[in-house]
Amino acid sequence: MRFIDLKPEFVQSSKSGENRKGTAVWSLCPCGCGSGLLIALRNPLDGGPPDGPEVWGEGLTDRWQRTGEDFNTISFEPSVLMWEDKKAGKQHWHGWIRNGEVTA
Ligand SMILES: [Zn+2]
Repeated sequence: MRFIDLKPEFVQSSKSGENRKGTAVWSLCPCGCGSGLLIALRNPLDGGPPDGPEVWGEGLTDRWQRTGEDFNTISFEPSVLMWEDKKAGKQHWHGWIRNGEVTA
């Protein structure tokens, strides 16, 4: 599956109180459920620091290293894990997004 087909877009955090650019990437969940997948970045597009834990909440404290900014070739490290129920250890989707390709 191509990442671009999940309608990805760069988003800015709304709670940082600053005018930040591309601190996270939003896309549709690769499993096809229609939910959103949020990938908060270690290296935002604007070159600034990653969002702090107050921005996306305690349920999303992981940050991913982005390589590239073209969704046709973008990669994230490490693997992306979307929790169904983090406290229960139940996973919703887990896979890799590398070179614009999504693999579970
Ligand atoms: Zn899903």
